[in-house]
Amino acid sequence: MDTLSDTLRASGAAAGPEKSGLSVVVPAFNEADNLDPLIARLVAALERIGLPFEILLVDDCSADDTWLRLAELNRGDPRIKGLRFSRNFGKEIALAAGLRHATGAAVVLMDADLQHPPELIGTFVEEWRKGAQIVYGQRDRTGEHPGLRRWLTRRFYRLFEAVGEVKLMRDGGDFALFDRRVVDALNALPERGRFGKGLYAWVGFRRVAVPFVPDRRHAGHTRWSFWRLWMLALDAVTAFSVLPLRIWSYLGVLVSLVSLAYGAFITLRTLIEGIDVPGYASLMVAVAFFGGVQLITLGVLGEYLGRVFTEVKRRPLYIVDTSVGLDEVVEIGLA
Ligand code: UDP
Ligand code: MG
Repeated sequence: MDTLSDTLRASGAAAGPEKSGLSVVVPAFNEADNLDPLIARLVAALERIGLPFEILLVDDCSADDTWLRLAELNRGDPRIKGLRFSRNFGKEIALAAGLRHATGAAVVLMDADLQHPPELIGTFVEEWRKGAQIVYGQRDRTGEHPGLRRWLTRRFYRLFEAVGEVKLMRDGGDFALFDRRVVDALNALPERGRFGKGLYAWVGFRRVAVPFVPDRRHAGHTRWSFWRLWMLALDAVTAFSVLPLRIWSYLGVLVSLVSLAYGAFITLRTLIEGIDVPGYASLMVAVAFFGGVQLITLGVLGEYLGRVFTEVKRRPLYIVDTSVGLDEVVEIGLA
């Protein structure tokens, strides 16, 4: 088993000679129609910055022509590189693989659907040169509809801040620039359940927010259903807080104290007033209520146990099918 410092050193050594430039990591799942316009705008924006750069696309096993388009783009411009997963592992894992393979002195994360304006990377780089180690785009939500989704998102941030151990980047985190130090620290984190935003906050470092208004998706549609968002929220809370486990001990103590008092009261009353048979309703309510509480407790325990199970299996984070333009590929992404 590697220690943290071993892993840090190893990831530094694997980074290669290009340590001065910029890497842009883009996860892509069925984004064939977005790749050409994205790359055109991105290359133009990066050339304006003037640093050497590489664009690293992570094809999350798309079912469309994403990989073909990518290989073609690489033939036209070797600065465009890519790897393809053996199956769909999800965006968070695609980002983790991108961070692992990026060689730049700073790494930018962005989506493939042109919701993140590539022109903003220039501003990110300015802030980075001024000393920020994490620069992130903060979505301006003023123009958005205040729908149920937005309300739930807000609740989630509130909850996470109340129970989690770290402070998240509000309205941001998927469009960001990380200094090499941050990337090395992230690469050294071994967990399988990857809630990126939480990890970015957990590693610390100097953070600067750059406000921006996201554009509409260029082509295709979002893959984040309510159910996937709910699963993400569960992952997030269980990865960064044990409060849900602890609540039940306190509730248990409270209920025990109340039962003790009630028990003493009933005993006394029976001694003084004799046996009182009616009481079916209160009995049923109590039995049903505590049955429910116990099932919830078991459910919460199960959530954590499930996560412990996935971690101890130590399966790889991802498996790479093929790659283009990369000198060195970590094909099986173990921590
Ligand atoms: N994505 C991915 N794997 C997936 C789902 C999405 O790599 O299983 C990528 C997708 O190609 C895009 C980014 O993650 O570049 C954000 O996805 P999307 O636009 O669907 O999410 P939203 O912008 O609605 O949060
Ligand atoms: Mg999007």
